[in-house]
Parts: sequence; structure tokens; C-alpha cells
Amino acid sequence: MESKKNINTLIHQYVINDPLHQLFDAVDVISVQGYDEDRRVIYWNKGSEHLYGYTEDEAKGKKLEDLIIPAAMRDAVINAHSNWIVDDIEIPASEITLQNKNGKEVAVFSSHVMFTNQYDTKQMYCIDIDLADVKKAQANAVFNEHMLKAIFEALPDLFFLMNKDGTIVDYHASSIDNLYVAPTEFIGQKMTDVLPGMVAKKFETHINKVLQQDEMTSFEYALNLPQGLVYFEARINNLSKYDQIMVIIRDITEQHKSAELIRQQAHYDSLTLLPNRFLALDRLSQILIEAQRKNEKTAVLFLDLDDFKKVNDSLGHEIGDKLLIESSQRLQSVLRKEDTVGRLGGDEFIILLRGVEDHHYASKIVEKLLNNFRKSFKINGKELLLTMSIGIAISPENGNTVSDLLRNADTAMYQAKSLGRNTYSFFTKKMNIIIQRRIAIEEQMYGALQRNEFYLHYQPQFDTKNKYVIGAEALLRWNNPILGNVMPDEFIPIAENTGLIVPIGKFVIEQAVSFLAKWKSVSEGKKKLTMAVNLSPSQFRDEGLFSFIKTVLSGENIPPEDLELEITEGLLMSCQLNIADVLAKITNFGIKLSMDDFGTGYSSLSYLRKYPFNVLKIDRSFISGITQNEEDLNVVKATIAMSHSLGLTVIAEGVETPCQLTLLNELGCDIVQGYYLSKPISENKIIEQYSDSL
Ligand code: C2E
Ligand code: MG
Ligand code: MG
Repeated sequence: MESKKNINTLIHQYVINDPLHQLFDAVDVISVQGYDEDRRVIYWNKGSEHLYGYTEDEAKGKKLEDLIIPAAMRDAVINAHSNWIVDDIEIPASEITLQNKNGKEVAVFSSHVMFTNQYDTKQMYCIDIDLADVKKAQANAVFNEHMLKAIFEALPDLFFLMNKDGTIVDYHASSIDNLYVAPTEFIGQKMTDVLPGMVAKKFETHINKVLQQDEMTSFEYALNLPQGLVYFEARINNLSKYDQIMVIIRDITEQHKSAELIRQQAHYDSLTLLPNRFLALDRLSQILIEAQRKNEKTAVLFLDLDDFKKVNDSLGHEIGDKLLIESSQRLQSVLRKEDTVGRLGGDEFIILLRGVEDHHYASKIVEKLLNNFRKSFKINGKELLLTMSIGIAISPENGNTVSDLLRNADTAMYQAKSLGRNTYSFFTKKMNIIIQRRIAIEEQMYGALQRNEFYLHYQPQFDTKNKYVIGAEALLRWNNPILGNVMPDEFIPIAENTGLIVPIGKFVIEQAVSFLAKWKSVSEGKKKLTMAVNLSPSQFRDEGLFSFIKTVLSGENIPPEDLELEITEGLLMSCQLNIADVLAKITNFGIKLSMDDFGTGYSSLSYLRKYPFNVLKIDRSFISGITQNEEDLNVVKATIAMSHSLGLTVIAEGVETPCQLTLLNELGCDIVQGYYLSKPISENKIIEQYSDSL
């Protein structure tokens, strides 16, 4: 027995199928092992060494089951081998897990062949292919599948897999709430079969697009589901390698809602819910484009509630807000659906009328609007009357652009205000000329101070009885190289609007006080001289005004009582909160306060008592009438008497004739100023003419 084995081994060593071994030697990525009838290794290629770790020398002569067969499989392997040898029962090729030299598992696909050599002994060859990579790939695939499943479940999105023709082959939905039909109804169907027309059309278009361009495409749509209108975003991807299309659908209702809210806030006024300035003007630009195409006229109405500020200040913002809401409703109720009402801000509204045939049509609508405000508003148990002024600009006559029309309607609105409010006015050519002039003045005024274009003239004021000079009023002058001489009545309101009045006003104070110092020194301080300076309401918004004046006075060594500040009722009506404080500070310091243009406003009397005035200037419109007109004479008489009873000094402005002067003297007017005595004149002339006569 023992000797037979040795002979066999010997024989085996010589029975080498050379060409076969040469072939196996050449392929070292596959393990090829040869075994004799006792399962001893007779061939072991490099591939076997790579796979199982044994070198050829280590393996040769060892038994199969002692090398690479795990203990649990040993008996089965031995049996299978003997069955093959004895009964010719082939061992089928299969995937099995063997082990390497270190005892680690090695997954292989193992095929086997049995040769019978010339000595009639059998040799089994095993050809093992390493399955490590395959196994890894398989494990990866399984992992990916699990991961995808987990992702699908975790994501609220809907996933549809469809063939190129749009037939749905698979879907994933973590919840079926957002599915338009039951899940089963999708499979085998196309989106176009199950979704409503418009949405289906969108899907079709985008599926075609993705197939043609091979790029991800996305679009939004909305569906009416039992829970309400739901907004979706669909993203479509072409899995061109697999001839399939992936559709990912996301519920974007919340996003949509917040975007809608933002849009709403950006485009609508939160109080009245009307389109805001931005949206209204955007609509106007759209309307203008369309109107041009259709050759139609468009009317732009600029509305401003009359004295709304007073309502707000006296009745409070709550009532003011309610009035604005009701006003906006009343405006809307008069208009057609295609017309737009917008709130420009504060108490300003805009109305856009399309397809306006003529001026007559626009005035009919405007009259309806004004009429609709005749009824009182009932708010918090109060009955309130509110009127408005409306300016109308019509395109194309009054402009083709949003800004031109808006500006022109605004100008016409101001015209309506000056006509006495509660009325309307069309924009006219004349207004256009005024506007052009205004724009030119505004343009030139920037930088005019730096270019030294401003200077002062002084109009002397005289003691009525003795006719000697007691001081002067500083009056601003502007000489511009382009516009020539511009008078203050024209440029001061513009300076007030642009805010330039603040630096310009400071310049006036500095100049006037410094001139007063010079004038006094030339006059050797024989008598008192005062300097009157006009102040605009907006100058009081500058918090540093008072301290600025103080600094200027002390810089020139002028006592405060030599300075007189002239203000008009406009300041007091402007309802600035701190106005009383500032005025009190000024007069407590000793500066005089003068009420200018008395009689031209509304309720001067009450202001005279409320604020610490020292001087009252009767407006020249009354003075010019006193010698002819009984009424004016009576007003002036009463004003002088009343002023004196309040302890105020009275100045008459605009004295142009000797008769007026005589009469004013008789009436007891303290001081006079006017062309009859002197026009406003330059510094030098004042010094020349009014230094000796002191
Ligand atoms: P005001 O303060 O009432 O000034 C008197 C205006 O009447 C001056 O016009 C003066 O030239 C004019 N005037 C004086 N006597 C007569 C007269 O006998 N007959 C006629 N017809 N007019 C006379 P001016 O200089 O054109 O100033 C107009 C207004 O501009 C001033 O009215 C004042 O309100 C404003 N203003 C002038 N300078 C300044 C300034 O420096 N600051 C501010 N804020 N306003 C100023
Ligand atoms: Mg004045
Ligand atoms: Mg005046």
C-alpha cells in the first residue's frame, strides 16, 4: 500500500501535461491547482499563490483539505472527490468560500476538471476565480439599495421612474398624501393619463425636452388635492444609459406661500392692501406700453387727502389709519376693474385709468371720486369729513413715461390744492414751463453756496414817528451765471424742499450778524440797531440751529436782543413737535421773535398768544389797501391795537406812498419798512446812507 503510493507520487510527478501547465503558468490572475487521486497537490500556479498565500513549494504534495478547505467542508469535499473518482459523479462548478494560508475566508467561483493520464490515474484540476471584487460590488449594490430605500423613505419627495415613452415603471413615495391618484393607478400609465390637462401638458413638454437635451430640467405646477391647492416642483433627469427617466417631485407649497407673502409685502401696502408705489408704477409702465400699441390714452390721477396731517395729529394715528382704509375702499368703489388704485405713501394715492377717450371722461370719473367723499366717514363713533385734491396728467399729451406723468399729475395736484382744495386740476403747458424752471433752479442751486452766488441785501426799517433807522431786514439774493438774478420768492420754496435751506440759512445768519457788527461799529454804537433775519420752517428741523445762532452772536459780540428772527405761520402749522421748545429757548436767550406776513394765514391770533412773539409784521397786502380800502384799514387798525395790548411791536411792511406812512403814523404803528423809504440795498449803500443819519 505504502509502496504503491510512492510509485503513484513518482508517476504523478512525471505525468505532467506540459502544454496545459504552460498555459496555466501564464495566467496568474486565476488560480489553477492540480490534485492526484489522493488530493495531493501536483500543480500550483502563481495565481494560486496570490489567492491562497502558499508558494508552489509549500503547497506541492499537501492535501487539498489540509490547504484551502475550511474544517466544516472537509468531509464533504473528500466525499465529493472520491465520488468523482469512483463513481464518476462530477463536482459541479459553484461559488464557494475556501480559506487561505492565514485562515481567512476566500470567496471563489470554482470549476473542476478530471483528467485520466496514460497510467490510468486521475488528476483533478480546480480553476478558482477570486470573487472578492464581485462580492464587494454585490455588497455595495445591496448597500446602495438599502441606502436608497432609506433615503426614499426619509425624503418627502415623490420619485417616479418611467420609460422613455413616459410609462411609469416604478415609484417611491414616503407618504401617499400628495399623490394625485392611488399609487397602483400610476404603474403602467403615463403622467398624461392620470394628471389634469394643463399639468399633463407641462410634463409632456419637459419630458420631451429632457430627452432632447439630456440635461436636468425642472418646472412648477399646482394640483387640487383633498387637502387644498398643493404646489409642486418637478425635476426630470434622463437616465439615458438605461433608457429611463427619473422624475422627482417636491411639495413646495410652504415655499410658495412664503414667496407669495414676500411678494405681497413687496407689492402691496399693508394698511390698505392696495398696490404700493412700486407695483402701481410698474403697472403704469405696462399700461403705457399697451396704450401705445393700441393708440389709447391713459389718465394718471394723483390724489392727496386735504389736511390729513391735521387729522392724524389731532385725532391720532388709529383714526387716521381707519380713514385711509375707508378712503381706499371709496376710491375703489368708483372705478372699473381694469383701473388701478395704488397708495403712493402717506395720504397720497394714484389712480390709473386706461382707454381714456378724452379729458371729459377723466373729469367725469374725478367728479365721481370727489362726490363719493361728500358723505361723512363714521369712525369710532365720530363723523368726519374728508376731502381731497386731484391732479390729472394724460398720456401721451402730458408725457409718455412713468416719471413724467407722475410728476405732471403731482404738479396738477398742487395746482388743485392752491385752487382751494377739494377739487381737481388738469396738467397744462403753463405748469410744464413752471416745472422746467423749477428743475433748472434746483439744478443750479446745488453748489451755488460754494460758488459764492448768494449774497444779502438789507432793507432798512424806520421809526414811524421820527423816521430814523432802527435796523434792517436781511433779504437773500442769488445771482446765477445761467439763470441770472433769481428772487427769493421763487428759490426759497425750492431750497426748502431740497433741504438746501439749512446751509443757505446758516450763511444768511452769519452774513447778517457780521454785517450788523460792522454797521454798528461804523455808527459808533450811537443808537441801537437790530437785524431781522427770515427763517424757514425746515431750518428748525436742524437740531443745532439754536447753538449755531448763539455761536455766531458771541463770535461777533452782538447781544441777542439785536437779532430778530422772522417766522411765518407755516412753521407753527407744520406741527413740528419740538417747535415750542426751540422758540422758548430762542426768546429766553433774548433773541426777538417776529411774526412775518401777518394776516395772510389762517389762525395767526391763536399763535400770537401761544408762542412768545415780540414783533408783528403786517403783510404788505393790507398796507397797500389802507388808504383806499376801509376794510384793510380796519384790519390794520385792529391788528395794531391788539398787538399793543399783547405787548408786541408792530412793523408795517411794503409802505410805498407818503399817504400810507402818514396814516400808519396816525394809527400808532411803531416801525415802517417799504420802497417809499428804501428798497433792499447792498451793504455798502446801507453804510453810506444810514450811518450818518443815526
Ligand atoms: P418777506 O420776509 O415778507 O420780505 C419782504 C419782501 O417784500 C421782500 O421781498 C422785499 O423786497 C419786499 N418789499 C419790501 N418793501 C416793499 C414794498 O414797498 N413794495 C413791494 N412790492 N415789496 C416790498 P424779497 O426780498 O423778494 O423776499 C421775498 C420773501 O422771501 C421774503 O418775504 C421772505 O419770506 C423770503 N426770504 C428772503 N430772504 C430770506 C432768507 O434769507 N431766508 C428765508 N428763509 N426766507 C427769505
Ligand atoms: Mg421777512
Ligand atoms: Mg413779510
